[in-house]
Formats: sequence, structure tokens, C-alpha cells
Amino acid sequence: MENVFNIISLIIIFSITIFFILFFISSIRERKPRASWLSSGITTFSILFILLIINYQLWIVAYIIALIIFKTALLFFLPLNKPTSMKIGDVTKRVDERDSMFAREEYNPGSENYNTYYSNHPEFKKVDDSLRKLPRLLDPGGKYYDPVKSEGIKNTFNLIKDLTTKVDGEVNKVKLEVDPIEITKFIKDLTIQRGGDEVGICELNPIFVYSHVGRGPEEWGSPIKLDHKYAIIFAVEMDYYMVEQAPDIPITEEAARKYYEAANISISLARYIRSLGYPARAHISDSNYQIMLPPLAVDAGLGELSRMGYLISKKFGPRVRLGGVTTDLPLLVDDPIIFGVQDFCRVCKKCADNCPSNAIPFDDKTIVRGVEKWEINVEQCLRYWRLAGTDCGLCMKVCPYSHPPTFVHNIVRKGIEKSAIARKLSIWGDDFFYGRKSKI
Ligand code: SF4
Ligand code: SF4
Repeated sequence: MENVFNIISLIIIFSITIFFILFFISSIRERKPRASWLSSGITTFSILFILLIINYQLWIVAYIIALIIFKTALLFFLPLNKPTSMKIGDVTKRVDERDSMFAREEYNPGSENYNTYYSNHPEFKKVDDSLRKLPRLLDPGGKYYDPVKSEGIKNTFNLIKDLTTKVDGEVNKVKLEVDPIEITKFIKDLTIQRGGDEVGICELNPIFVYSHVGRGPEEWGSPIKLDHKYAIIFAVEMDYYMVEQAPDIPITEEAARKYYEAANISISLARYIRSLGYPARAHISDSNYQIMLPPLAVDAGLGELSRMGYLISKKFGPRVRLGGVTTDLPLLVDDPIIFGVQDFCRVCKKCADNCPSNAIPFDDKTIVRGVEKWEINVEQCLRYWRLAGTDCGLCMKVCPYSHPPTFVHNIVRKGIEKSAIARKLSIWGDDFFYGRKSKI
């Protein structure tokens, strides 16, 4: 009997050693020196400890340690607290795209849009004028401006701009009768084949359609009429190593590249659906969005909204860019998913701690247009973008959900999904192994 206990204890201690060996390998691949040193130290200590136990027959110590590991693992995965979901009340007012920060920064003093907008919204004039005095994104004067790369990124954004006239088109007059199950599968497979990494479908909640055009080739201020029934929302993963260089120029190179990919995927999907005889419109960056992608991505089961405002995808965390197509093609919808983000963000606050412009709140959620969420200060965020000359992305870089989906990180995510204790331990662990503050 004693031998059985000895073997079980050794297996438990050995399993945790294997976990830290895998963590060591994963942190080397992630180029995280602090995590590599710490995990190699823990691995060495564990191996020495196993040898000591066997050599000096320290079985009582082995039992105690094994019991602690076993109990912690149990608490880590036991579904003791159901994760909280986002609370969405009665949302009645659609968002006007003209109020978005990206639209506002395009109003040039003296222009008609400028005069019209600020006579209706004098409350934004002072802060927007002060932002306009700073260098524009990717222009000389930003801290990370690079004449070659910044110009390359502008070129990518110009390519996207050229695509903004291709988001809609003629619908085939001959309508093909489709089976919703089959066509849903086909559309999802096609999205992945064309370069999407995750895809979901939801009914198009009209509240997530902008009320008026604020940017792009369509007439500024014209009301948006979009009554499609469904939204196909997909995510493209941003490269981990590019995001790791935030807030330096590679983060913006990667963002632009992914917007371009997403634009091409959306346009090709919409064109395919129209060829079947159903209306479809692509919604692409720079700016031809008529819909708000993050809340629709939540509805389509791609992830949850986070403290920093980004969608957290279950597989890639915030390291994604979104794209979408709205259509009347009959499709099957997905359910929203809950995997602990609201509870994790409530305690974590790492993005808020690292934000150079204090744009991310440390406080609890507030009700914004009927939705309970953390509201970031977009003006402050943009101010830093202009100072940096890039779209910063530090919050995305430091977020614990941004780690690549390796075996070790996936195990931790499973725990976060299930247990409140796992969430607390993971936040502590992330700070311990990766550090609380990122070096800029
Ligand atoms: S860094 Fe932490 S608080 Fe911020 S979004 Fe990520 S998990 Fe949430
Ligand atoms: S992008 Fe940068 S400035 Fe903006 S919220 Fe994130 S960390 Fe803050």
C-alpha cells in the first residue's frame, strides 16, 4: 500500500515538473526571458526535489507536496463559480458614426463638415482641436515614425481605401434555393479558406448599425439604412511577434496588414453571396463600416468584450482584427460564449496599469447606452497614438489573453473558464512570470 502512495505522489510531482518543462519551452518560443528563467529554475528545483525524495526516502514530505499540488489542481478546474456574462439592458439609440473618434479627427478646420459638426457638438471642439495639433498617425513627428515603414503602412491603408467602393454590388436576379445548414457550413469553410481564423454568425441587431455615415466614400451625414437579417463576423489573428513589439511601428504594420486581409475576405464573401441571388454587403476598414463589429462578434460567439474595449477571442485573446458581411442569405446563428473574461478583467487591470495615456479605466463598469461595460477614454488613447505615430497596442501586448494558444496557455485558459480560483491564480502567475509592467 505504501508503495502505491509513493508512486502516486511521485507521479503528481512529476506531472507538475513536466508542466513547467513545457512552460519553459513555450516561453523560449515566446521570447520571454523572465518567464524562461523562472520556469527553468522551478523545473530544476522540482527535478532535484524528486531525486532527494528517492535518495533519502522523504516520503512524508512527498505526500504533503503531492497533496497540495493535487488540491490546487482540483480547485483550478472545478467549476465553483459560474462566469459572469455582460449585461445588456434596453439599448434604444444607435451610434452615429460621425461621433466616432476616427471620424472626428478627419474634420479639417474651415471645412463644411467641421463647421456643421462642432456647431452641433461644441463639447468636443476643444479636445479635438488640441488633438489635431499633434502629428497625424504615421506622419513625421511621432516617436516611432519610420520614413520607410510608415509610408509602407500608409500604402496598405490606401489599398484598403481603394476597396471601399467594392463592398456592395449587383445581386444575381436568379435566386438559388439553399439549405441553411449546408450553406452556413459552406460560408464558414469559405471564410476560413480565404484567410479567416475564426467565424461566427448572428442575427443583425439593428442597434449595432450606425445611424449616420461619418467616414468613407458615402455621403457624410446620410442616414444608414441596413436591414439585412444576418451578420457573418470573422476574426483574423495578428502575429504574436509583431504585437510583442508594441508600441513600435510593427504593431501598426500588422494591424494594417490584417485590415487589408479582412477587407479582401469580406468583399469576396459578399460577392459570392450576391452571386447566389441574395443581397450582401462587406464592412471594411477605412471606413466602410455600417455596423459595429465588436458587439456583433460577441453575438456571433467569437468572444467577450474586455476592460480595454477589444474583443477577447477564446483562442487568440485580443490579438485579432475583425471583419464582417451582412446579408439576407438564410443562415444558422451561433450562440454567444462566456469563458470568464468579465470576471478576469474585473481583477486583472494589467492593460490599465500599462496604458501610457491612462485611457483604460481602473474602476468598475458603467452603463453606456444601456450596455454595462468599461468605457475607455478614446481621446486620450488617440492622443498617445499621435504622439507615438503608431496605433500603440500596448494594452493588447500585455493582456494575459494575448499569449499564443500553446498547450500550457490553453490549460490555464480552461481553468480561467471554469474556476474563480483559477482566475485569481492566473493573474498572480501572469504578473510573476511575465512582470506587471511592460518595458516600452
Ligand atoms: S489586460 Fe487584463 S484587464 Fe485588460 S483586457 Fe486583458 S484580461 Fe482584461
Ligand atoms: S492603445 Fe495604447 S493608449 Fe490606447 S488604450 Fe491601449 S494602451 Fe492605452
